[in-house]
Amino acid sequence: MGGITTDIKLIDEKGLRLDGRRPDELRPLKIEAGVLRRADGSAYVEWGENKVLAAVYGPRECHPRHRQNPARAIVQCNYNMASFSVSDRKRPGPDRRSQEISKIISEALEHVVFTHLFPRTSIDVYIEVLQANAGTRCAGLTAASVALADAGVPMKDLIASCAAGKVADTIILDLRKEEDNFGQADVPLGIVPRTGEIVLLQMDGDLTVEEFNTALTMATDACYRIYETQKDALRQKYCVSKDDIAGDIEEAAENIEESKKENELEQQDDVPDDQEGGQ
Ligand code: UDP
Repeated sequence: MGGITTDIKLIDEKGLRLDGRRPDELRPLKIEAGVLRRADGSAYVEWGENKVLAAVYGPRECHPRHRQNPARAIVQCNYNMASFSVSDRKRPGPDRRSQEISKIISEALEHVVFTHLFPRTSIDVYIEVLQANAGTRCAGLTAASVALADAGVPMKDLIASCAAGKVADTIILDLRKEEDNFGQADVPLGIVPRTGEIVLLQMDGDLTVEEFNTALTMATDACYRIYETQKDALRQKYCVSKDDIAGDIEEAAENIEESKKENELEQQDDVPDDQEGGQ
């Protein structure tokens, strides 16, 4: 970032990017809710070449205890990039970058979770990056909010997140690694779509005010598209259509009919002997 020079042509003559995308085009995004059995809630996100898993536990007793807040729950996020997630093996364990990302994601999530409902507790969010190609904090935050909803944690809304930036003097959406490394600016954004609040905003590199506003608008529009995919993932897991349960309804109707017939037969058998046939 910050204009490191490269021979790679980040925007070609047709105005297209390295992977053939237009400047305002997102990478393909897939979200699945509830992928882990042991966690209270989970989500898996594939976003371009990024593969990110989020798991949620809680609200549960807060550890370490000195972090407990008597008035509300705290959201503790742990963002981790697997050693095998990047081409140059990443040294395992926390580093300054992962601590920074964990902190900004925790703070963003605390804005949407109704923390006052669960004093003294902790809501623990684990984000594991299995494969990285820039934009993993946005993918992590997007996955974490779906995982929180999957865990049934009360929230005012999901958070949708996406970055915009600048390469070859062009404002672009959703940077891939080469664009992140050799571009001029990167602006990750996280919003609460229902209210439009901004809960995550960072900027690496240089932009004029006008360029910044263009990038912000581009990323905000993308967040609303991402929000739809997040809701679809939750619908996919929790909504059943009439067609899905048509077989069950038919079976239930047959059972009711059968027990009705059995009841009628039992009632006939229960008629006392002196009433039978004589009256
Ligand atoms: N990256 C890497 N090794 C590292 C950290 C990052 O190869 O130790 C790559 C990885 O693809 C990551 C990208 O650089 O997604 C951009 O990292 P950045 O810190 O900008 O965060 P991100 O864009 O993933 O939120």
